[in-house]
Amino acid sequence: MIVMKFGGTSVEDAAAMRRVAELVRKELDISRESNTAAPMVVVSACAGITNKLIKLAHAAASGSEAEATALLTEIKSHHFKIVDELIHSAEKAAELRTKLSKYFGEIESLIKGVDILGELTVRSLDTFSAYGELCSSLALAAVMNESGIRTQWCDARQILATTDRFGHAEPLWPETESKLRSIVLPHLEQGTVVLSQGFIGATLSGKTSTLGRGGSDYSAAIFGSILGATKIQIWTDVDGVLTTDPKIVPEAKRLRVMTFGEAAELAYFGAKVLHPSTIHPAVTKNIPVYVLNSKRPESEGTLITNHVASHEGLIKSIAFRRAQVIINMKSTSMLGTFGFMKEIFRIFADCETPVDMVSTSEVSVSVTIGETKYLSKITEHLREISEVDVEQGVALVCVVGDNLRAASGVAARIFSAIQGINVKMISQGASEINVGFAIAEEDLETAVRLLHREFFSEVLEREIFA
Ligand code: ASP
Ligand code: MG
Repeated sequence: MIVMKFGGTSVEDAAAMRRVAELVRKELDISRESNTAAPMVVVSACAGITNKLIKLAHAAASGSEAEATALLTEIKSHHFKIVDELIHSAEKAAELRTKLSKYFGEIESLIKGVDILGELTVRSLDTFSAYGELCSSLALAAVMNESGIRTQWCDARQILATTDRFGHAEPLWPETESKLRSIVLPHLEQGTVVLSQGFIGATLSGKTSTLGRGGSDYSAAIFGSILGATKIQIWTDVDGVLTTDPKIVPEAKRLRVMTFGEAAELAYFGAKVLHPSTIHPAVTKNIPVYVLNSKRPESEGTLITNHVASHEGLIKSIAFRRAQVIINMKSTSMLGTFGFMKEIFRIFADCETPVDMVSTSEVSVSVTIGETKYLSKITEHLREISEVDVEQGVALVCVVGDNLRAASGVAARIFSAIQGINVKMISQGASEINVGFAIAEEDLETAVRLLHREFFSEVLEREIFA
């Protein structure tokens, strides 16, 4: 069986949902012909709805009940419009409206509750944000059933058991596995499509939780790995993974195939195609992941897999992150001693701030961070043990490709392509698949264009680049 995950833009409105139903029908037909279980479908909220729910929750907690109610009205009409445009049977439309209205009623009660309390916990925020997926999936299930695709809608809170780290919950594997086996698998084996929500789950005590923003891909990978999927399709609104962001380089090329390692590196460095943790369950079970465009299903997309014929030193893509910060630390007491690094990293750990790039000399350490919520607390603690200097407005650029470390001349090509741009920090990952460096944010677009010209103006590997 396969898992098909549709992102927010793939289910944004009636037309998008109609396309999804056709894509699912095709896969269902294939599964029938090959005598395999029906596909499991995982959906995100309609594009923009999760953001609205979060805004609504904050508005309610800060006393702007009117703003919260206005946002709820927008959310309601968005979904009711889909019902009007898509469901032909009056009876089915009424049934769907009743189900949706039940959720909207719950949101209304939550708004009142949070308004009275005047505070919004991470746990409540998860409860609010879960409604996006619940509503989109209800509508899609109705569309699929009406168009003759036998579909079982399933509340993901019944099948994805998670930790109680609200906002960033992690799956509880054995519990999730037994739920999937008893609730989902029998339907799939009988040829019924199971349609559930990405992003959301529930703790063992039944509290709604979420896997974190963009978490639907992760849900798809979790379900796929447990169900032993032969592939996972991630349907989105781009043709696949590109050689860089087309907003900066319009002629960016599509990658036909890449490794999980490369994809993880790219995701981590800000390419918005896949949620970084998605990679993990798929890699361990060796399940190929296809990134596909639901608006242009004829495009082949990008296949992400463990097995790619290796092209030593071939650059696949250029990713970047804006709004990063470099922290430079200097301490003469570091010379010839040990334990200094431990002290430094303990401070970042205590402040729950991930460190991205590190570079050291005998008396200095520089790191970059992207999460700056606790920046002042971090620098305050660091100043107790070293001289500290903070540089804001930094961009990280990451050049990704197989076996870069083994190939000679790659670094020379990178840095001569961008000569004239001041490079503040360099790091070559131990993973051998990335060379990263930090520059001023205002140099970013120029650097990306120069690098793209250097590595992709003439590509010979037709089996890799479309
Ligand atoms: N709807 C959620 C979000 O916007 C999850 C997802 O789309 O993957 O973050
Ligand atoms: Mg998404």
